[in-house]
Amino acid sequence: MDLSPQDAEFRDQVRSWLAKNLAGRFAGLRGAGGPGREHESFDERLAWNRHLAAAGLTCLGWPVAHGGRGLSLSQQMIFHEEYARADAPARVSHIGEELLGPTVIAFGTDAQRRRFLPNIVTVSELWCQGFSEPGAGSDLASVATAARLDGNYWVITGQKTWTSLAHVADWCFVLARTQAGSRRSSGLSMLLVPMRQDGITVRPIRQMTGTSEFNEVYFDGARTEASLVLGEAGDGWRVARFLLGVERGTATFGQQIGFRRELDGLIALARQTGAAANPLLRDKIARAWIGLEVMRAYALDTVAGPDAPVAAGAAGSDGPGSSGPGSGGGTGAEASVLKLLWANWHRGLGELAMEVQGAASMVADDAPYDLDSWQRMFLFSRADTIYGGSNEIQRGIIAERALGLPRQARA
Ligand SMILES: Cc1cc2nc3c(=O)[nH]c(=O)nc-3n(C[C@H](O)[C@H](O)[C@H](O)COP(=O)(O)OP(=O)(O)OC[C@H]3O[C@@H](n4cnc5c(N)ncnc54)[C@H](O)[C@@H]3O)c2cc1C
Repeated sequence: MDLSPQDAEFRDQVRSWLAKNLAGRFAGLRGAGGPGREHESFDERLAWNRHLAAAGLTCLGWPVAHGGRGLSLSQQMIFHEEYARADAPARVSHIGEELLGPTVIAFGTDAQRRRFLPNIVTVSELWCQGFSEPGAGSDLASVATAARLDGNYWVITGQKTWTSLAHVADWCFVLARTQAGSRRSSGLSMLLVPMRQDGITVRPIRQMTGTSEFNEVYFDGARTEASLVLGEAGDGWRVARFLLGVERGTATFGQQIGFRRELDGLIALARQTGAAANPLLRDKIARAWIGLEVMRAYALDTVAGPDAPVAAGAAGSDGPGSSGPGSGGGTGAEASVLKLLWANWHRGLGELAMEVQGAASMVADDAPYDLDSWQRMFLFSRADTIYGGSNEIQRGIIAERALGLPRQARA
């Protein structure tokens, strides 16, 4: 990509800042964290995230008026690429910064903006996303967690599940049914709920990687102030759809650099194990390389192009056909295409890594018999095609929005 002089200068600034600061107490954090490895050096990564904030390197795309940097899309892309290239640790504040923050900017009252945005910028408060429930995943409109007003408070009862990072979060944005007897997408509200209170119990879910990045969250008379409803009470579906639409965005370019590094590592491993001489594996490795190039070209054309994409997230039965306030100029299916591309590619890379490792992929070396990074990546990447909206849901969106096929039958 040809860079303007300003963008080239920005890239040099970010690159040298990262080189200088990923040193000393932060030197050991290179490569730490990320999907499947959120348990790694959490406290140190939190400190690193606050160090980034102190240098003005959080919330880069937010408007200056709301505490962000107001950077252009190309500069945000550059930051994420340089960040990944430096092997900087996964940030711990992405749910607040990338999901909740932009939604508070779009729908929040002045008081809510003043209360929450500064603490996201400085990484003083962490957030988690309380959408999925045992009976409401892809079909998000089936949310059953209920909240009723009691004086100055909402009182919340119900259960959320798969709640990433709930065990470290200070706050949760909870999609709850606030109108008794309402059905589907009507009568829902987005409540901002403090996590540290007696009415909330967080139970970790142990994953097949052996770690627990997500949780069950039980609300048993949990409370939040009446004023902490984001958007209008009863209009939570619109707010939720907007929030799902801002998921990913320019961070996708950093993700692709991370994928490139994994692929390079796999090629080195294939040379080392002799797998590179196997014609079938050579073919698969070349296909993986091509897949990554296709992904990057598509992302450049859509995320950074004039028709910025929308909702790639879970979209329930009332979801795929309609467009929310997050809609860009495209068909609304662009983000779904990108989600399908990267999720399938990365899951495939995990499978390929096991083939390249051969029989060694089936054993853990020494006590404490932990997984190696390829085994961990293989196991966790099974989730790629589920979270952020499953493959089937993305294909439903593409069928309806991009191809104009008839809407799927709804209950
Ligand atoms: C690692 C990870 C982290 C997550 N973090 C969070 C989080 O922080 N907060 C949160 O709220 N949620 C989170 N989730 C939940 C995630 O959004 C859901 O798992 C996802 O939306 C799918 O919902 P479900 O698991 O209930 O599966 P279901 O919706 O029950 O789907 C089961 C299967 O049926 C298919 N299916 C469902 N509906 C249709 C349809 N209409 N047409 C065709 N096929 C269909 C699905 O594709 C899937 O294969 C996370 C999930 C994972 C794996």
